[in-house]
Amino acid sequence: MQDRFGRTINYMRISVTDRCNLRCRYCMPDGITKCSMQEILTYEEIIEIAEAAEDCGITRFKVTGGEPLVRRGVETLVRSLKELPLTEQVTLTTNGVLLKEKLPALVEAGLDAVNISLDTTDGAKYRQITGSDSLPQVMRAVRASLEAGIRTKINAVLIPGCNEEAFLPLVQMASELPVDVRFIELMPIGEGRSNRGMDNRTLIEKLYATFPGTVPDPAPRGNGPAVYYAVPGFTGRIGFISAIHGKFCDSCNRVRLTSTGFLKQCLCYEDGTDLRAILRSGEETGRRTLLAEAIRSAASGKPEAHSFDRPELITEKHRMSGIGG
Ligand code: SAM
Ligand code: SF4
Repeated sequence: MQDRFGRTINYMRISVTDRCNLRCRYCMPDGITKCSMQEILTYEEIIEIAEAAEDCGITRFKVTGGEPLVRRGVETLVRSLKELPLTEQVTLTTNGVLLKEKLPALVEAGLDAVNISLDTTDGAKYRQITGSDSLPQVMRAVRASLEAGIRTKINAVLIPGCNEEAFLPLVQMASELPVDVRFIELMPIGEGRSNRGMDNRTLIEKLYATFPGTVPDPAPRGNGPAVYYAVPGFTGRIGFISAIHGKFCDSCNRVRLTSTGFLKQCLCYEDGTDLRAILRSGEETGRRTLLAEAIRSAASGKPEAHSFDRPELITEKHRMSGIGG
């Protein structure tokens, strides 16, 4: 499906919960969650939406949260998404804490790839950022995921004065392991409104300076806007998602479904469509068509670009944990 600016929309991020087992300081520092289980879409409802989304040309799904692995049976959702007729890819974004134990079921369900959020390789700093001592578990999960043959990426958000020194140790992970390590610029969403993130241009300069021979790697590696670099001798690639200093809205391919069934058009704005209202209207006849129409209308009405550089225009009030990243 194309939106009004001619962009192809083929990717849906699906948040399955707003709850989490970590309390990352820029995402969910006080851990408040407001949604009851009645408000959250059931897996059956999510699949109904995904079927309608496929009618609109959306064939790639990312399962996210909150922390998706805290919701029981998430592997059954992965399997059901994979079994839809037009699905090309089902991937997962996780903090990695529960990943190793859930991995066999996820692999069996057909998961194609996993992104693991990790903002430092230092245990004390990890505790400071997340409020947890789970770093060894996350490191084991990275290895287990690679050993299981799942395409694995690390996503890091660096904040000056907090974890900027994590850059090179995180980069080094791609030397030792066949994992892509990506740096995402902090967006002014949720707690990110009161912090300033690292500028990826500075990180790229540091990469070149530290590893002479580094070159851009233009080969596509997934659904997203990351720009990749190859470092001599490294197995994995280093990626940069520069939402602030490298605006990529002209190639945006996605819509976002919150755990309560709201279909968001853009991270920056609160606009979208309440698909749960359609699902729970009590009318089953023609529901798939109604859902598809609502998805098509929301997707085609996506705004041209975010306005993260103009805080007065940002209307999104939720945290990233309520949106799904
Ligand atoms: N719990 C899962 C995880 O941590 O991967 C999935 C949800 S989490 C909200 C998705 C991603 O959003 C994480 O990589 C997190 O670091 C990132 N994130 C949270 N707040 C952000 C912000 N303001 N700007 C950029 N990325 C952010
Ligand atoms: Fe939880 Fe992910 Fe937010 Fe951290 S970034 S608090 S792991 S949802």
